[in-house]
Amino acid sequence: MGPQQDRKSSMANGTVSSRKETKVVQYRECQRNHAAAIGGYAVDGCREFMASGAEGTAAALMCAACACHRSFHRREQVEADYDCSSTTSS
Ligand SMILES: [Zn+2]
Repeated sequence: MGPQQDRKSSMANGTVSSRKETKVVQYRECQRNHAAAIGGYAVDGCREFMASGAEGTAAALMCAACACHRSFHRREQVEADYDCSSTTSS
């Protein structure tokens, strides 16, 4: 009989939670009403703002997907170091 090596699965997740409270602003769905002129309501369906240019330039404020200004997109503040838990927003 050999020496019994009981390898305990080391589950020592010694992650020190040094949370930096970094808030990042993200821009979600485009909420621009394209039918406002005719008294209706129609959005272009853009789901997330994508800058069409580099940060700091004027193009960075325009959405590459729907060409609307960033201010039409829903502004959302999120924590930068979030884990992969689904955040439910009402
Ligand atoms: Zn748009």
